[in-house]
Amino acid sequence: MTTLASPAEVTERYDPVIGLETHVELDTASKMFCGCPTAFGAEPNTQICPVCLGLPGSLPVANAAAIESTVRIGLALNCSVAEWCRFARKNYFYPDMPKNFQISQYDEPLCTDGWLDVDVDGEAVRVGIERVHLEEDTGKTLHVGGSTGRIHGADHSLVDYNRAGIPLVEIVTKPVPGTGPLAPAAARAYVTELRELLRMLGVSDVRMEQGSLRCDVNVSLSPKGSGVWGTRTETKNVNSLRSVERAVRFEMVRQAVVLDSGGRVVQETRHFHEETGETTPGRSKEEATDYRYFPEPDLVPLAPDPAWVASLRKSMPELPALRRARLAERLGATPFELASMANAGVVDLVASTVDAGAPAAEARNWWLGHLAQKANSAGIEAADLPITPAQVARVVELVADGTLSTGLARQAVDGVLATGSDVDTVVAERGLRRVSDVDALAAAVDEAIAAQPDVADKVRGGKVAAAGALVGAVMKATRGQADAKLVRELILRRLGAG
Ligand SMILES: [Zn+2]
Repeated sequence: MTTLASPAEVTERYDPVIGLETHVELDTASKMFCGCPTAFGAEPNTQICPVCLGLPGSLPVANAAAIESTVRIGLALNCSVAEWCRFARKNYFYPDMPKNFQISQYDEPLCTDGWLDVDVDGEAVRVGIERVHLEEDTGKTLHVGGSTGRIHGADHSLVDYNRAGIPLVEIVTKPVPGTGPLAPAAARAYVTELRELLRMLGVSDVRMEQGSLRCDVNVSLSPKGSGVWGTRTETKNVNSLRSVERAVRFEMVRQAVVLDSGGRVVQETRHFHEETGETTPGRSKEEATDYRYFPEPDLVPLAPDPAWVASLRKSMPELPALRRARLAERLGATPFELASMANAGVVDLVASTVDAGAPAAEARNWWLGHLAQKANSAGIEAADLPITPAQVARVVELVADGTLSTGLARQAVDGVLATGSDVDTVVAERGLRRVSDVDALAAAVDEAIAAQPDVADKVRGGKVAAAGALVGAVMKATRGQADAKLVRELILRRLGAG
């Protein structure tokens, strides 16, 4: 048996075919078929009613805002919108689904047959979209008492139905062949682009870590040049962009090892393990017929008025690809820089900071650097930081005119984040101005020289480089507020070495 290490080696003998099923929780105020609120993080089982618990006699009513969001997603993905379609019951038992069926769509999805163009390492890949349909989310099960949080080894399980009935859009791609060794990157690029698109449409908060965007990753291998597609596996609920890429890579290598040794890939769902980057078998895959789908008898069919669909099409926001082309020009950014900004969710913030007067490179550095770190450590999106693009632009301005050094500018930004005050107030209250007054610095320079006489001697003897230690001492004594260049000049002058 050959040992394979990389997708590149796998693709010497196999063509990978990938496919992605993405579930997106819409951010409507109420649930899909009842009036319960949808806010994340509420006490368990406080956002429930007879409808989303499926109690006898309760009747669902479809949420118009969710239907509108789904149609807008379909239009943004270049899909056809059905003139008439129905919801369907998907029958199965699971404790997090109190009705014993899920209201979904089966053979009559709302949107079909579209595409999304993505950039994979500079190469354009068109990902076909099979369908975009609307369904309800299930509740959440918490397995208690085991070490892994999984059902195996748990003492008991708790169910929270707050999530049951939240509108969920499922976006299914067509199989994507032909990406070769780029298959893992292509899967990631697709989810990244889709997330950006959904964010721009304003239909979901697309937080993978909170589960409002979840991905199932399908992978199969076809013997190179055969045109015969292999058996696929479906890795469920992969919940970060990096994990999407890793899951594809792992499955490509695993399946190649199975096929190389004369084995058969089993059609099954698999679990992804964040810690190891590996997948393990879940249940064997059900066929659609196992679910005994039938049209939902408690809901009227959907028949979107073509005039309404046309008006939604007209009111579409600028989509990511067009917007990127326009911003690349305006912000003078390379495709790579734009992709970094998109990944960090800061494109708008950088653009607004530029609008407020900052040079593009400075605006980008702040939002991708110091501010991205702050957002990351606080576990929030950069857009939710308590600082505005105008405030960032003001900090940039104060650095440019010499009032703040880079270090002081960071302190000023941290002050704004901590207090919510404006930049000038923080600079004044914390005394952050750079000191470039010769008289004010003279005493600190003398002290530094007196404290390190051997260093001073070296500088006097012509070792100018040694002055760095003295400059450092003065900067420390002035809490970083001194103008370092000026301090250096003063020291060298005082020691007769300047
Ligand atoms: Zn409810």
